[in-house]
Amino acid sequence: MEITYDKNAQEILSTIKSFARKSSLWVIAYGTGCGAIEIPPTMTSRYDAERFGIRGSATPRQADVLLITGYLAVKTLKRVIRTYEQMQDPKYVIAFGSCTINGGMYWDSYNTIKLLDKYIPVDVYINGCMPRPEAVIQGFIKLQELIMNKKAEGAAKYKENLEWYRENQRKIIHNWRMPEYNW
Ligand code: SF4
Repeated sequence: MEITYDKNAQEILSTIKSFARKSSLWVIAYGTGCGAIEIPPTMTSRYDAERFGIRGSATPRQADVLLITGYLAVKTLKRVIRTYEQMQDPKYVIAFGSCTINGGMYWDSYNTIKLLDKYIPVDVYINGCMPRPEAVIQGFIKLQELIMNKKAEGAAKYKENLEWYRENQRKIIHNWRMPEYNW
């Protein structure tokens, strides 16, 4: 009986933690592409994302969510990786715009990323070119559902498969010179 009680208590505690996490998402928005223009209306009074617990963060170390807002140049990818690795666990990535999924209208460009998930783990993609604020909010709601159901596992996937990610990252970033990821 005692063990059952402990398990129940742990489950309740874990659910409370997930509820707290999903209700307070601090976002660092990396405005890589044109989709960044949809962030101000999403965060301000018209769509008011803060009513869902979503708000901006000034630095990666205080952020829970890294929001990549569109096409990503190889040169910028290096900064995005560095930003992601500076964030503390638990951390999540939302990639927004078709460019992060398949390169979008830059699909044959020599210097943009075609699939962001090869380089950093993406928890939620929001498709569209560019996605409207309603879609952005829907993407956050999807992330909140994943957090609540303990399925937002991107950061764990990154740790487990770091060698695979590094290999992909180093294939396209030639002047690597990055500090080692300090867990
Ligand atoms: S998906 Fe469209 S709006 Fe978004 S970065 Fe690409 S071209 Fe720009």
